[in-house]
Amino acid sequence: MMVEAVEDGRNALAAMVNGSGRIAALTGAGVSTECGVPDFRSADSPWRRYPPIPFDLWLSSPAVRAEAWRRKFALDDTAAGSRPGRTHRALARLAAAGRVAAVVTQNIDGLHQAAGLPAGRLVELHGNGTYAHCLSCGARHELAALRHDFNRCGTAPVCACGGLVKAATVAFGQPIPPEALARALDAACRCDLFLVLGSSLVVRPAARLPLLAKQAGARLVIVNREPTPLDEHADLVVRGDVGTAMAPWCESN
Ligand code: NAD
Repeated sequence: MMVEAVEDGRNALAAMVNGSGRIAALTGAGVSTECGVPDFRSADSPWRRYPPIPFDLWLSSPAVRAEAWRRKFALDDTAAGSRPGRTHRALARLAAAGRVAAVVTQNIDGLHQAAGLPAGRLVELHGNGTYAHCLSCGARHELAALRHDFNRCGTAPVCACGGLVKAATVAFGQPIPPEALARALDAACRCDLFLVLGSSLVVRPAARLPLLAKQAGARLVIVNREPTPLDEHADLVVRGDVGTAMAPWCESN
């Protein structure tokens, strides 16, 4: 393992990226902090004020569902108006150039899509928080309309079919969609470089992917501003700001 500060690690990172034919990336909340979206574990994170609500509890109680929606709208306000950052833009460009085959994200903020990454290249392991869906019929529901009704009546939304409406994210205790998991595993096993960008690597199953990629023969690079449990397995660790590390590949530094 080689650990480099961003300034010193740029050349090594460039050599890895430019010398790879098929790159897969795993992104975590750290790629979006420069966009004004707080991460989960940092000391000042608003997420800490709102501990996750387990899915079984969410299902069992209308009062819990209403509280979950109140928290979601409050958290959405902390990230309102966010735009893609340097890592989102760099990955979209590398994908357009055919270099990045897949981006697996733990994020739910929709910023990879906003940067232009095609849906076929993106795997959202934890779903997407920019819209909601009915757990019974699957109908999509837009947050603005749900929020308008919630502010008026204070109860959790219900679909026209009678089903429960939930943000299209994967709640604590809710299974990862099997198709997303299968695509993530495939991406990890079929790359020659696996880039971990801004993830604490403590949330499973995402945290398994880097070792799967290594076992399948890929080189592993971890870019994060603090140590992760998998650093010792990496070929290169770049310690510092991920946007700065990825800036050489985005259109406007
Ligand atoms: P995390 O908060 O556990 O870890 C983020 C990591 O990124 C931390 O180690 C932090 O030190 C690092 N980091 C933060 N800003 C950085 C920067 N500018 N440069 C380099 N490193 C930086 O987040 P996670 O590991 O992605 O997982 C947490 C869970 O919370 C996920 O399941 C995710 O779904 C959810 N979440 C998503 C978002 C989002 O969509 N943007 C935000 C918060 C939480």
